[in-house]
Amino acid sequence: MVDKLVNSEANARRITMVESCFGSSGQPLAVPGRVLVGEGVLTKMCRKKPKTRQFYLFNDILVYGNIVINKKKYNKQHIIPLEEVKLESLGDDEHYRNGWLIRTASKSFAVYAATAVEKGEWMAHINKCIDDLLRKSGKKAVSEHAAVWVPDVEAPVCMHCKKTQFTLINRRHHCRKCGSVVCGPCSNKRFLLPNQSSKPLRVCLQCYEVLTAAKTNPTSDALRVNSQDSSGEEDSDDDDEAQKGQSETHDLFVLTEVPLRYQWGTRYRHYDCEKAETKPTFYGDNEKQE
Ligand SMILES: [Zn+2]
Ligand SMILES: [Zn+2]
Repeated sequence: MVDKLVNSEANARRITMVESCFGSSGQPLAVPGRVLVGEGVLTKMCRKKPKTRQFYLFNDILVYGNIVINKKKYNKQHIIPLEEVKLESLGDDEHYRNGWLIRTASKSFAVYAATAVEKGEWMAHINKCIDDLLRKSGKKAVSEHAAVWVPDVEAPVCMHCKKTQFTLINRRHHCRKCGSVVCGPCSNKRFLLPNQSSKPLRVCLQCYEVLTAAKTNPTSDALRVNSQDSSGEEDSDDDDEAQKGQSETHDLFVLTEVPLRYQWGTRYRHYDCEKAETKPTFYGDNEKQE
């Protein structure tokens, strides 16, 4: 059904609209054969907290960005090639519902839809696009994916030594291999994780041991773990506004937080977007040809 849209004017118009919403902060998106399959707002779990993001599903890429003015202006565009993507449904819990993981070789994160129906629609459409792409290209799905970062609020103390309490001075760090939140001394090693960076990245001591063992014994299974790793720039969630410097102030109140759960979400209960704003639109399903 999406194929019918390939050369349609409606599709061209929609893609122009997406480009204009991102303006000079975005990449050109109109390429031959590309179709805008759907769009909507999802809540993306970032390092500090869940944030609403505008998502555009194309038949070959997933694009998302920060909402500056709803339906008008977006920035901080991210483009994820769908060929690399694998989705993983997340179970509902008390605070977090309708979520799933978007995993790629270099970066993985959780997103949440407003309702179970919307979650189902998003996942089905994304998976359909991935299947079609892989079928056409004859490529195999990427089997190794980056770790999902544990959000800062979930770790009042270091997840490795279980001792260090995080403060303005004792800053949080993320292991790029397992995604754990760890203190400086527990992550003072670097390891080359080629899927993520050409430079060695911060890893926790536990992962360092595993990775080093795998390197000295390259036939070991553990070597495969190596490339699974993690995401992003040094200690920053790439689309997180709160960056270095001001970024650790929340530690003060996090100190008092118990119980510690390594699942997402002890703190942010009201993350649901207003439903009217989030209802996704998927094109092509019932659309007449223009
Ligand atoms: Zn530690
Ligand atoms: Zn680790």
